[in-house]
Amino acid sequence: MPLFRPTRRDFLAVAAAAPALTLTARVSSAAEFGPVGAPNSGHVRFALGEMQLTVLSDGFFRRPVSSIAVNADPAARDAFLGAHFLPVDEGYSHTNHIVIDSGAARVLVDVGSGDRFLPTTGRLMDNLATAGIDPGSITHVIITHAHPDHIWGIRDGFDEAILPDIPYFIGATEHDFWMQDDLVNRVPAEMQQFVLGAQNSIGVDGADWTLLAPGQEVVPGIRVIDTPGHTPGHMSVVLESGSEQLIVLADALTNPYLDFAHPEWVNEADMDAEQTIATRRRLLDMAATDRMAVLGYHFPFPGVGNVLRDGDSYRFIPALWRFD
Ligand SMILES: [Zn+2]
Repeated sequence: MPLFRPTRRDFLAVAAAAPALTLTARVSSAAEFGPVGAPNSGHVRFALGEMQLTVLSDGFFRRPVSSIAVNADPAARDAFLGAHFLPVDEGYSHTNHIVIDSGAARVLVDVGSGDRFLPTTGRLMDNLATAGIDPGSITHVIITHAHPDHIWGIRDGFDEAILPDIPYFIGATEHDFWMQDDLVNRVPAEMQQFVLGAQNSIGVDGADWTLLAPGQEVVPGIRVIDTPGHTPGHMSVVLESGSEQLIVLADALTNPYLDFAHPEWVNEADMDAEQTIATRRRLLDMAATDRMAVLGYHFPFPGVGNVLRDGDSYRFIPALWRFD
């Protein structure tokens, strides 16, 4: 697999083409519903043992279906998508952040796109306010990986850390990969902005980084696990309270139907195909065997559910979140 396939231009091309596509395959075959009037709420809150969890959206973006399951037979991919009421032209990706109130700490996972990536993302801070969470009350930030939709939001309009004076955590492998001096010269020209964006984000003024090893605990009940493939040092976050556990998958799996049924079908954005497949299988097996809930960053909001083993593959079972 090439080093970095997706570029910001690909995403923007989809955004520009969206109106023309609206009346084609999406309406006729896919189950998508927009809001009536004002936008729908961007947060939901629930409990995991003694922890209080808030899932918050940073917005959404569309990605071309040609960028997913790139090693599959396109006809088989489209047949799978169509049978699951999913569009065969372009997918709609949610961006599900989580704030974990563990009692002693209030931890945010990833900081979103900010205002530098796409016009449909960068809503995290607004949605925090709507959810009644004062950004100043967040005590720790964990970054799962340094792709634009997960880290570019770290910089405010003055190029300073959006949440100053708190510790930021990222995997040591992820940090060291993106911060290589000559990396920008070793990637194709159109992908250099992903490298520069990661370096500018990690280098932002006011962020005090702690580099994590696999399995390391950030605060009691919250630890990271090594889930490489999507990026070289990608990490997921495991929450544990009482007898309950949840894995914040980040982008180890990005589609709860395709990636569960066909963990071997990888996306353009997955930097190492073999590692991605091995990581997915390990995570799915762990979640199914130990009955751990999962949260997918790009799953349909709020993206929380469980993993059912189904022969050699798996199925996603959305969790019921209650109104009271
Ligand atoms: Zn992502």
